[in-house]
Amino acid sequence: MKILVSKCLLGENCRYCGDNCKNERVLALKARYTLVGVCPEQDGGLPTPRQPAERLGEKVIARDGRDVTREYEAGAQAALATALREGAAFAVLKAKSPSCGKGVIYDGSFTGAKVSGNGVTAQLLLDNGIPVYTEDEIENI
Ligand code: SF4
Repeated sequence: MKILVSKCLLGENCRYCGDNCKNERVLALKARYTLVGVCPEQDGGLPTPRQPAERLGEKVIARDGRDVTREYEAGAQAALATALREGAAFAVLKAKSPSCGKGVIYDGSFTGAKVSGNGVTAQLLLDNGIPVYTEDEIENI
């Protein structure tokens, strides 16, 4: 069975600041699943490193004020296409990210404050019937 996974959780240096959030519990899923890595922000055309961005209503705005909604939406579409092509049963995505977060995300103020909501990619996957878990919910899988 294949599952979609945020590449930064697999140890790829694709985060906005150029590092990763390698997670051993996510990597251990390799014993049970084939992990298909995606990074929606890179796949949507953004460079690494890049300005951090946060969701603000229906838009995604970078810290320098640039509207990066289009790139985030393109990355979400690419992740959905990969999930459908690979027949991914579900996704394990990075918590709180404006792309990958599920349930709780940063609030758009760049202060570290959080609000209820989903990242753009997580939302698109959920809208298309693909279950999404964060790395904090592995015990629920
Ligand atoms: Fe990780 Fe997702 Fe951000 Fe890429 S878009 S760095 S996979 S949280």
